[in-house]
Amino acid sequence: KTFTHKFNTKLYKGTVAIKAGLFIDGQWVDPTGGGDMIDVVDPSTGKVITVIPGGGADDVDRAVKAARKAFKTCWGLKVPGSRRGKILDNIADLLEKHADALAAVEALNLDMMSGKPLPATRALDLAGCIGMIRYYAGWADKIHGKTIETTDKKMAYTRHEPWGVVGAILPWNGPLVVAATKIAPALATGNTVVLKPSEITPLSALFIADLLNEAGVPPGVVNIINGYGHTVGAAMSSHPGIDKITFTGSTLTGRKILKASAESNLKNVTLELGGKSPTIVFDDANLDQAIKWASQGIFMNMGQVCIAGSRIYVQEGIYDKFLEGFTKVAATLTSATGRPFEEGSQHGPQVSKTQFERVMGYINSGKSEGAKVHMGGERHGEEGYFIKPTVFVDAKHSMKIMQEEIFGPVCSIVKFQTEEEVIEWANDTTYGLAASVLTENSARAIRMANALEAGSVFVNCASWVEVNVPFGGYKQSGIGREFGQEALDVYTQVKAVHINI
Ligand code: NAD
Repeated sequence: KTFTHKFNTKLYKGTVAIKAGLFIDGQWVDPTGGGDMIDVVDPSTGKVITVIPGGGADDVDRAVKAARKAFKTCWGLKVPGSRRGKILDNIADLLEKHADALAAVEALNLDMMSGKPLPATRALDLAGCIGMIRYYAGWADKIHGKTIETTDKKMAYTRHEPWGVVGAILPWNGPLVVAATKIAPALATGNTVVLKPSEITPLSALFIADLLNEAGVPPGVVNIINGYGHTVGAAMSSHPGIDKITFTGSTLTGRKILKASAESNLKNVTLELGGKSPTIVFDDANLDQAIKWASQGIFMNMGQVCIAGSRIYVQEGIYDKFLEGFTKVAATLTSATGRPFEEGSQHGPQVSKTQFERVMGYINSGKSEGAKVHMGGERHGEEGYFIKPTVFVDAKHSMKIMQEEIFGPVCSIVKFQTEEEVIEWANDTTYGLAASVLTENSARAIRMANALEAGSVFVNCASWVEVNVPFGGYKQSGIGREFGQEALDVYTQVKAVHINI
């Protein structure tokens, strides 16, 4: 079955056809049963626009068998790294060739799901995805072990070998970028992949399936199974034929995956989870830059970003001016609310009814716990899942809005006095994904970077990731690192070979 969509907007014109099936062993197949159909919903209207088939446990099993066969026969260390790198480069070339159509599908996917504007999708998601694949294409023939001299009669050397079959479970807030973040290092290091996109954003992964064949990826090296977490995701986590799971999503689900992995075959697990990141603005910060980064840090992608800076701490001397400037930026964004294919649109809907209700629930809890709504605090319009950029003031550290991940366009701006005090507050969370510090004092910036318990610290910037810089969480924000050379380590296991001369 094919889902066809005709774009006729100022920003993009064209027709795309997306095959709606399961992609196993390089072929489109129907589910064998046990899975549920997936409603694809437009979040700007709340209406179902297409229904696609989801897989079940048997389909996971078929995909794992195909991935295992490919690993043993036509991928893994059977293929030189340079060949794997060339195939990854071919994928990047094809993504570039289809970038406009793919961006439109991704925006359509996200239009239906999370309302990201089309130009931002082209500039961020597609560019990020292509850059990620090229980066790991370059690494594929540079995966080396080392030699270790023990005595003059003995030595050892190490090999970095692929795990085998990697299961990749994705969230909805960056479907293509996160897919590339998993597929590229996994393939570069010689693993094969069973990929499960989020049931909320299933379309763009289907678009790239045929491109994988065209790029020369052998059948079975990448298999794509759409489906729900409790069916496909759970079957993957407990499947004894999957050697490693790489997961991006909520801490709650990460915990379930870790448990199922441990109870089945002790899979190696990488988890990229949630956050409650602080943005800390000192009196000596450049005010305009601080406002720019703090607002971008929370409102980008309607707050649906794992490193969203939802707790903004501002030192007392700059607090009033900061609040005034931040309010203006948030008001501009509010007036640019619209759908991805509308020109000038900068702020879209939340991804789904569930997310909309969850975020509204947090807004209501903030109100009932006594925080003051400075702006926003309500839905935008009558239709769809739009929420106004929302700013709380007078929030107490113990409130739910200060402790839990909201994953929406909602922040609290809190006044602080001393460096010691703000370090204490910033670190008093179960999460540890990211933190931002805005200051012109470089000694303070370094002191803060050292003191903050987070996998990424942004100095005079926010929500800024680079493909060649490791990314991951402290505390309950994750296990392992993606991006950079570090990802090569999580997609390989080290074998030590001892030689008695
Ligand atoms: P989610 O945990 O609800 O779902 C993520 C994926 O897990 C989906 O594909 C879902 O189908 C699957 N899943 C659900 N239950 C499962 C189960 N029992 N077993 C196996 N798989 C299951 O997360 P989401 O709502 O899609 O994404 C939002 C979350 O992702 C936020 O918490 C956000 O912070 C986090 N996130 C983290 C990063 C990062 O790099 N740290 C990046 C993006 C998003």
